[in-house]
Amino acid sequence: VQILVVNTGSSTVKFSLVDSTSEQVQIAGQVDWSDHPAQMQVRCGSEHYSGKYAVNSPREAVQLALGQLDENPVLKARCSAVAAVGHRVVHGGTLFQAGVRITDEVKRGLKQLCDLAPLHNPINLEGIEAAQHAWPGIPQVAVFDTAFHATLPAAARTFGLPQQWSEEWGLRRYGFHGLSHAYCTDRASTMLGRRDLRLVICHLGQGCSLSAVRNGVCVDTSMGFTPLDGLVMGTRSGSVDPGLLIHAMRHHRLSADDLDRILNRESGLLGLSGLSNDMRQLQEAADAGNQRAGLSIEVFLHRLRQTIGATAAVLGGIDALVFTAGIGENSVPIRRRACEGLEFLGLHLDQAANERCRPDADIATKESPGRILVLRTHEDLTIVRETVRVLRAEGQPG
Ligand code: ADP
Repeated sequence: VQILVVNTGSSTVKFSLVDSTSEQVQIAGQVDWSDHPAQMQVRCGSEHYSGKYAVNSPREAVQLALGQLDENPVLKARCSAVAAVGHRVVHGGTLFQAGVRITDEVKRGLKQLCDLAPLHNPINLEGIEAAQHAWPGIPQVAVFDTAFHATLPAAARTFGLPQQWSEEWGLRRYGFHGLSHAYCTDRASTMLGRRDLRLVICHLGQGCSLSAVRNGVCVDTSMGFTPLDGLVMGTRSGSVDPGLLIHAMRHHRLSADDLDRILNRESGLLGLSGLSNDMRQLQEAADAGNQRAGLSIEVFLHRLRQTIGATAAVLGGIDALVFTAGIGENSVPIRRRACEGLEFLGLHLDQAANERCRPDADIATKESPGRILVLRTHEDLTIVRETVRVLRAEGQPG
């Protein structure tokens, strides 16, 4: 059967039609309304369609995308066996720890979770409702970015805060990027031919997070109650001393909204460099002698190496270190620098393999006890697999 994967964001909707058996992507498209008019692009084999449309909301973007699949005769002919639509939903809270068929009750649950992920969940929900409206006969499934981390043991998921807060306010380390971490766990296990592995997975894109996985189960992760925690990112600060935030509120009169904006959108590589949140540009600038660009990369690397080391301690060693997402898949120097000094953990980088690598690849030396993998992430395949699992659990052909 085919699964239509829909990822509804604040300024783009990405969609793909995937054959669930071969896992081949048959149609891939995107509606981008960050500029007016919105741009839609769709690829189907060697065919390519693009056009400009008046779209102003996630709802209209999903309507446009599904409408296109209904109306364009070439695309319609390819959509002959769609069994379900699988939606990416950022936050499942403690209510949803695995994919779930969307019912009215599930939608009520998703609404309750909007407070936990105000930037993402309302938009995801809008995408779901638009798809239900456009394709009323097709089952819709929600797959959560937090679900992979639901297995975190209490010691790893609990903050050092009054327990009453945690209970009453639902505070815990939820973790994010789970679709990518789950995919990389499966892919690494397949490449290495075993599941009994201690994996450290570094998802380094605009957002960055790291997961510790033992025997296929996530036991720790760097993002926390929100996706702001942990590694230094494109525009997000990552972990900072919480006392610093109290200081900023008390002495510099920053409000919650100010802190939200600064920590989420004006910090990280962008805030450090004053130049860009794009690692490629920073590398070019640093190579040309720009010292702030150089420092921003050093801060990024320091936190990354520190977190890899901390995670190795949690796991009691590393069988494979995995790099994925934009920076992890593409940046030769970041991978090289991240692995510097990790030989004591049994991780020996093959410099030549790192330079010529095309993911998916193993870039550790032959003799290295631990492997170093570069994997192209496929979050959409986690959505397909989880959607099929939900259909099968209901006794439907998946
Ligand atoms: P998102 O989290 O938005 O999906 P990506 O996974 O596409 O983001 O990652 C975006 C990041 O990847 C940017 O910082 C970009 O500079 C970086 N990146 C992409 N290609 C390269 C490259 N060749 N070298 C260094 N960084 C790269």
